[in-house]
Amino acid sequence: MTATAAIEHKHVACPFCGLSCQDLRINVRDGHFEVDAMDCAQAACGYARASGITNQTPSPTIRGQTCNIADATLRAAEILGQANSPLVGGLGCDVAGVRAAVDLAERIGGTLDHMHGDSIARNVLALQDGGWMTASMTEVRNRADLIVVIGSEIFDAYPRFGEKILWPEKPSNLEIKSRTVIVLGSKTTAAGSDHGARHVTLPREQLTDVLAAICCLLRGRPLQATAVAGISFAELKDIVERLKQAQYGAIIWSAAHLDFPHSELTIQMVAELIAELNNTNRFIGMPLTGPDGTATAQQVCTWKCGFPLRTSFAKGYPDYDPYSHGTLHLLATGQADALLWISSFNAQSPPTTSAPTIVLGHGATRCDSPPEVFIPVGTPGIDHAGLLFRGDGVAALPLAQLRNSALPSTADVIGMILSQLPR
Ligand code: SF4
Repeated sequence: MTATAAIEHKHVACPFCGLSCQDLRINVRDGHFEVDAMDCAQAACGYARASGITNQTPSPTIRGQTCNIADATLRAAEILGQANSPLVGGLGCDVAGVRAAVDLAERIGGTLDHMHGDSIARNVLALQDGGWMTASMTEVRNRADLIVVIGSEIFDAYPRFGEKILWPEKPSNLEIKSRTVIVLGSKTTAAGSDHGARHVTLPREQLTDVLAAICCLLRGRPLQATAVAGISFAELKDIVERLKQAQYGAIIWSAAHLDFPHSELTIQMVAELIAELNNTNRFIGMPLTGPDGTATAQQVCTWKCGFPLRTSFAKGYPDYDPYSHGTLHLLATGQADALLWISSFNAQSPPTTSAPTIVLGHGATRCDSPPEVFIPVGTPGIDHAGLLFRGDGVAALPLAQLRNSALPSTADVIGMILSQLPR
């Protein structure tokens, strides 16, 4: 038997984290991927997971029993149509998928939240409170001569963060001669040690205190302490001097890794520090959002209904509440009486709930107990083309279809559910 020839794809945009690297090389043979993932284990894992479902395309199910997609979407429409306060959650999909999900939520009086809704809410709370000054990933990479990274976990969550932003290997567009990098984080990491990165270790719950102390020194106010969060006064003064000397500084944070109580205050303090620094030199921020289409869900929801995620249509108009409309709160308090869970990039199973659950999920999804309805959907950038916002929320990147697939897109499935809803 003759082996099928591989089809080569170059400059592939990767959908598996907010960096959206566009330089992968992938050979596709019979739906399987041979990936040059540029030493990124996260990307390699994402494509391997997609390869794993190639041999046997998963089928829709109702209560664990295989069915056709028309029956599955009809049952989903019945559940959602009968629910008083359904939750449209997960939202791990592309622009078209989120657009359809917002339309569906509006039609059924549902509430919209993302699987990383807590981290989105942290940023939104800080933004709403005092505003912020931000720039794109490309601008930070090309222009910042000083970058402060808030949270050492960023290096794990975005595996090519150093290579893509801090220390690019092909600095053809760089507008600076050298760059200083300071990492304020809770763990020591070797990231950037060969580039002279300075790591300042502190408990992350005390990030706000440290940023407030830096702001205080910057304003020339007295600081009644010899150390803050274990950082000596001398070291704090030295950081302040470096901030002052920067021609164009940047502070990067990932709200997903500021998961401690009231961490929106940390982000608020970052925004305040940046505003203060702009009195004398140029400084900007860059919130880096996570995987699973986090930035996409946030952007599309905001432009479609005028409010961020955690908006409910139960009252017949958009009602935003970052606390009461969170997924876990709605499920734990029994306020959501049906759950539509969307996860097309990763096999992320839905949170445990007694509410009837419909999953539009990656083919490799495994649930502890079969949901009422499971419909496998394609992954954008693998099974179908799509658009995905990069983690800085600035650019929507096109994702190409890499293989022929029988799996429908999330938008297609939601369109079928919408057409089957009772009038
Ligand atoms: S760093 Fe993120 S976007 Fe880049 S290849 Fe790895 S998983 Fe994909």
